[in-house]
Formats: sequence, C-alpha cells, structure tokens
Amino acid sequence: MSELLATAVAAVGGTERPGQVAMAEAVATAIRTGDHLAVQAGTGTGKSLAYLVPALRHAVEREATVVVSTATIALQRQLIDRDLPRLEKALEKPLGRKPTFAILKGRRNYLCLNKLDSGMQDEPDDAALFDPFAVSALGREVTRLREWVSDTETGDRDELNPGVSEQAWRQVSVSARECLGASRCPVGTDCFAEKGRAEAGRADLIVTNHALLAIDALQGFQVLPEHDLVIVDEAHDLVDRVTSAATAELTAASVAAAARRAGRVCDQELADRLLEAGDGFALLVEDLPEARLDSIGEPMANTLAAVRDAAYACLSGLGPDQRNSDVEVATARKLAQSQLDEVHDTAVRLLRAFETDDAHRRDVVWRTGETNRPPALKAAPLAVSALLRERLFGQHTTILTSATLTLGGTFDSMARSWGLPAEQGESVKSEGAATDKSIEGPKWTGLDVGSPFDHARSGILYLAKHLPPPGRDGLPPSYLDELAGLMEAAGGRTLGLFSSMRAAKQATETLRKRTELPILCQGEDATALLVRKFAEDTATCLFGTLSLWQGVDVPGPSLQLVVVDRLPFPRPDDPLASARQRAVEARGGNGFLSVAATHAALLLAQGTGRLLRSTEDRGVVAILDPRIATARYGGFLRASLPGYWTTSDAEVVRAALRRLDAAS
Ligand code: SF4
Repeated sequence: MSELLATAVAAVGGTERPGQVAMAEAVATAIRTGDHLAVQAGTGTGKSLAYLVPALRHAVEREATVVVSTATIALQRQLIDRDLPRLEKALEKPLGRKPTFAILKGRRNYLCLNKLDSGMQDEPDDAALFDPFAVSALGREVTRLREWVSDTETGDRDELNPGVSEQAWRQVSVSARECLGASRCPVGTDCFAEKGRAEAGRADLIVTNHALLAIDALQGFQVLPEHDLVIVDEAHDLVDRVTSAATAELTAASVAAAARRAGRVCDQELADRLLEAGDGFALLVEDLPEARLDSIGEPMANTLAAVRDAAYACLSGLGPDQRNSDVEVATARKLAQSQLDEVHDTAVRLLRAFETDDAHRRDVVWRTGETNRPPALKAAPLAVSALLRERLFGQHTTILTSATLTLGGTFDSMARSWGLPAEQGESVKSEGAATDKSIEGPKWTGLDVGSPFDHARSGILYLAKHLPPPGRDGLPPSYLDELAGLMEAAGGRTLGLFSSMRAAKQATETLRKRTELPILCQGEDATALLVRKFAEDTATCLFGTLSLWQGVDVPGPSLQLVVVDRLPFPRPDDPLASARQRAVEARGGNGFLSVAATHAALLLAQGTGRLLRSTEDRGVVAILDPRIATARYGGFLRASLPGYWTTSDAEVVRAALRRLDAAS
C-alpha cells in the first residue's frame, strides 16, 4: 500500500506524511478484514488520498464498486475535479488499468426534461401569487433554465452559475417518487438523471453526498448501484445530514398543492375535501406555539386525521395506473400521486408520533416559525443510530473519516450516534494508537493519525476566564473591549465566530465605530465573496455565524486570530436537541453532557480548526466565554481541542499577536 500511495502522492505533487501512510494502511486493512474503521485525520494529513488509493485498488482488483460520500459540495468538487482525475492517470500503470469514477446525486439535483417539456410546472404558492414581482422573477429564472438545457451536458444544478431559487428549480426537477420511470418516460433515453445513474453503474468509484446515502438506506429500493465499501468523509456531519433526509414536513401550502394536483386527475369533490382539510390545518397550525410539541390536542389530531383520510381518498380516486395512457396524463397522475403520498404519509407519521409515551417516542415533532416561511409541523427521528447500524454498517464495510471525530478525547460520542458500540478502554487517546472494539454490535476500529501541525508551537488557546459569563442581552461591553484589544494587537486578521447573527451584527456595528480596521459581516454579501475579500487583505476582519464555523479555509497571514464569543451549545428551545437530551436523561444518562456539550465540543473543534490551515500558520484561538475554563464540563470541551499552548493572560496573548503582526 505504501508504494502505491507514494506513486499517487508523487503524481499529485505532494509530500509523504506519516499520518497519511498510517491512514492508508488502516483503510487497506479494514477493506481486507471487513471491519469498520473510524479515522480522525487532522487538516493537512492528505486524507482523501489515504482512502482513495486503497479504495481504487480494491475496486479494480475485485471488480467491486466503492461509494465515497461527502457532506459539502466543496469536497465533492475537490474529489471530482482535482484528486480523482490525477489518480486516474497515476494509478493506471500500477493497477493494470485506468480506474473510473463518477458523481451521483439525488434525482432532484438534475433537470427533468419531461417536466420541462410537459408544461407540468408547479403553481406558485399562495404567497407568491399575490406578489407580481415574485411571479415575474420566477418566470425569468425558468426561462433561463430553459435556455440552459441546450448548454448543459449533465443537467446538474450545481453546474448552473449563477444558481436559481429553490422554487424555480422545483419547476424543472422531480423527486424519485415523481419520476415516470425511464422506460415509460418519452425522454427517458436523454434523461440527465438516468445518464448519471448509468455512468455511476459503470464506475469503480462513485462520489455522492450524505443525503443520497441516507435516502439509499431509508428507501425500500436501491438508489445507489450495488456496492460493498462505503467511505464517509466529513463523517462528523453524517448524523445531522441523515436526520435532515429523514425529516418530514407538513404545511398548509403542501396540502393545497397536492389538492390542486389531485383536482386535475381525480374527482374534484375529493380534491375539495383535501383542500378543506388543509384549510383547517392552516388555522390550527398558526395557533400552535413555535416549539417542540409533546402533545397536539384533539382538534389538531382530528385535523391531521382529516388530511390523512382526504389524501387517501384522493389516492384511491386516482384509480389504477394505465400503462398505455398518454404521457401528459401519466405525468400529471404521477405528480399528483407523489404529492398525495407525501401528504398522507406525513400526516400518518405526525399522528403516530404521539401514540406512544414520551420514553418510547421515535419521532420528535415541532412547529416551525421561520421568517418568510409558512408555519409547518415537522417530524424528525430522535436518533438515526439504529438505521445506520442496520442499513449502513450492517450491509457494507464502512470507513468514516474527518478532522474531528474524537470528542473529549475519545470516539465514544460519535460511535454512539452512529449506532456503533462505544470504545472500551482509554487507549485511543494517544495519537496513532488503534484499539479493537468488538464487545457488542458491529466490529470497528478507531484510529487517530494526528495532525501534521505542531499545535503547541503554532497556536495559543486564550481562555478569557476573567470575563463574566455571557448573558441573554447581547454581548457584554467587556467582551467587545476584549475583542477590540485582540483585533488591534493582531492588526486585523480576525475571524469572529459568533453563536448568533445578532451578536455578529452587534460586534460589527460597535467595532466599526471603535477601530479603523475593515470589518465584513456575514449576510452583507455572498459568504464566498466575503471570505475571498477577507483572505485578500490582511487588515480585514470577518464576523459571522454557523456557516463560517465550518466553511472558512484561509491559510496564511490573513487569519491569525479566531475569536469565539460563546460556547456553541444548542439553544434550549432547539426541538431535536432538547428531545434527545430528555431521552438520554430518561435512560438515566447525563443528557447535557451527551447532547449539548457534545454538540458544542464538535462545533468548537470545527470552528477553532479554522486557525491552522498550513504548517506555516501561526496564531491565537480566543474563547471569550469563561465557562470553558470555569465550568465542570470545561475539561471535556478543552479535551476536544488540539493541544494548543494555553493561557488566560490577556497581555501575553496581545503581545504574541503584535509580534506575529510585525513578523507578517
Ligand atoms: S426519466 Fe424521470 S427524471 Fe428523467 S426525464 Fe423522465 S420523468 Fe424526468
């Protein structure tokens, strides 16, 4: 393996790194033994090559198919546009033939030629109907999509630049449920999604995303071609992505849209009954509190039952599917059926969620109240561990990797959330050590290959324990003073990671008045553009919230200070986190530590990981929230961060930042 890896590394112009070699060997062993593997590999390890090389060798030698799943489009692009084309050439000779690869996404990501041709576009929702600007903007976007068809070879939404709104894309795409099926579809032979699937079926390695991986596991039918090895990169995000894919939503608009579609293909009376049930739902959902629901009360239960029954009546009213019916009729029927199925199944799921007592509930239900969106009832699984254990680990050898998989120094939290048994003993804490965990459930190995960075020499962790704990009413003045002092000392170069948009804006407004340093705030422009401006000018600072915690990769002197205002615990009213916490407590566990502290530890490790992106990088991570130094759980959070040199002396930190500024 090390020889093959060396060939690959030479071909991509990199240097061999011990962590990369250890990881590639471990991946090769896992493939051979069939045991699952979790590998923590710090930024700069070159982990994609460390799994791609053994995976491609396995695929070519065994004529098998390997699936690589990522959470972000950025990593997907890196694999497809950079790593795999280079490996294709480099490994051709040693493997005896050129390995092949393809990308596969959910059907919704590809433009549907049949929907575009048949004129079966969705009607804009009620809110948009009353806004002529929204309707004309939508029309312009759909026209642009029609023009794009003749330019695109893939029909892949991610290749459309600039992109279009979700509503416009829905006009030209279908879900797997809505698709007519290639054999029946008049444009099935030209279908972009079908071409993507066919290409994936021939490839040695398929790159996909966690959502499709989840759908493949959730659905009764196969979405991904037959495969025997799954590699989950960015595995720290797997549970959230799978949870999102398994979340259902009911809105009055979705009921009305299903009723309108039903009205085209079945008895209008049946469609009107559904419309009426939807009106009842609209009235009641409006009055529910924007929170997790532990019960729904009789009126809502009756309304949901009415929606369920009316949707079922419409489905029955569709009659049997006539194989020889006209394409337009078949398309209209399929679209109606899929929307009715969704409304029916969601109403059933919402009702079932309340049938058992709290301790045995599998779904969490809450009423959303997002700005510019109608109120909805959502149902999400309390846990996805059983699903992953049965449908992922139970069926394929699985390699999970990320820069952040150990929390509090062990793989335990992550393993539990994936449905794997927690590790036994403490030995995984040391870098490079591997342990076997085979007590119960799928057999797996955890390996931390460390990081090429010398954290203790390259970074300072500043814990501002003299500050007051964060309050409810925005950032305390002492936080803003501290932040200003650090930014001035660093000469800008600051990434401010805030726990809320409100705090990011407050810091931006206040500090713009107090300092000459240019400050960019998330939301003022496209995030990618803001990050580019930040990277181009060392004096510029960038403030923002969640997407910056995970999405900023700026090596070099433009980023030498990462400031975190508050420990990123989930909000107390977060429906899923609070329900998960309660479920752990009901089993006698520590809900706060298992759910809230774990969530904070993961985000903190991700956010502060923005500081060191190359071995030359130097700087400071400053955590203003003193609880990381003073609270009981502080030790767990600190153990989730790499071994920076740690201090609580503000003057030492400012002096270090001044020196770095002068040296840059
Ligand atoms: S096969 Fe399905 S996705 Fe493809 S064009 Fe036909 S209906 Fe659309």
